Amino acid sequence: MAMKAYDLIIVGAGPAGLCAALYAGRSMLKAVVLERGAPGGELLNTDLIEDYPGFESILGSELSQRMAAHALKFGAELVTDAVLSVEKQDDGAFLVTGESGDTYHAPVVILTAGGTPTKLGVPGEPEYAGRGVSYCAVCDGHFFRGEVLAVIGGGDAATEEADFLTRYASKVYVIHRRDAFRASPILQQRVFGNPKIEVIWNGVVERIEGDGRNVIQLALRDVVTGTRSELAVGGVFVFIGFQPNTGIVKGHFRHDAAGYFITDDVMMTSIPGLFAAGDVRAQLTRQITTAVGDATTAVIAAAKYLAELRDRQPVATT
Ligand code: NAP
Repeated sequence: MAMKAYDLIIVGAGPAGLCAALYAGRSMLKAVVLERGAPGGELLNTDLIEDYPGFESILGSELSQRMAAHALKFGAELVTDAVLSVEKQDDGAFLVTGESGDTYHAPVVILTAGGTPTKLGVPGEPEYAGRGVSYCAVCDGHFFRGEVLAVIGGGDAATEEADFLTRYASKVYVIHRRDAFRASPILQQRVFGNPKIEVIWNGVVERIEGDGRNVIQLALRDVVTGTRSELAVGGVFVFIGFQPNTGIVKGHFRHDAAGYFITDDVMMTSIPGLFAAGDVRAQLTRQITTAVGDATTAVIAAAKYLAELRDRQPVATT
């Protein structure tokens, strides 16, 4: 169990974390990026990206690799370790504890830990997770060639991934609890224009049923008429939002109703020295472009914060 000291600890290696690492390297800060899995974060759950300037169309996995390589080029230290806690100590510095047992110390932490997919919370969901219940179309879509699938949700993720899943599936039902999508118009257009997609409005899933090995059908209820029905599917993809990964931070911090960090305009949270960037932060939208923008601001502000801390250190007298 090692104890390592840095200027800056970056938690998470999605677009925000990798961009923060790039800027930290260019700011000559001693920084470490702690990530529990492969670098890329939600990029790894996204197939084609068409809204990142300079790349008309790029695979999420390829953009992840490019961002990681770019950060490494500027000296980023990428460490695979799941962060268990981020704690501000009495001396003002942060103690970050990893699953490995190693601890990391720094006056500044930038939390870019993203979020965890929200679960439906219905019977059958945990039992069939990985056996027909999925939260990642890019990861699992190819397992369902020629099958009938259901996608749950009405936001950008649900509509985008439903369209993607039609590459493999013979038919995709999009089941939404209201009678209108909240997804952006261009993604809605793709769904409505895709002959393999059928939308079930005002529908909620009451149960996910299987044969003991795989999902075979959904028990649905129409929230307007109260009618119950069964829908035969080979798999169900759930895209009903994310919960921000803020639970690792010990102590009180300002957050919005959904639990996202409220930051000031330089990405500092209500805990001095703790910055938040990307999907963990309360904001209008969560895009790759906004994540890297947040991270850029956070590192530049963090560098200033570190300089101010150093200026405040008492000068040693002999
Ligand atoms: P979201 O925008 O919050 O949408 C979640 C959807 O799930 C909503 O339609 C919501 O219904 C529904 N929902 C929530 N809880 C539910 C439940 N218990 N049962 C059934 N349905 C439920 O989340 P998201 O689609 O994951 O997107 C998250 C953020 O990432 C957004 O800011 C989005 O713009 C961004 N994103 C962007 C892209 C892109 O630009 N290409 C792709 C993916 C995500 P209601 O509408 O009734 O609330």
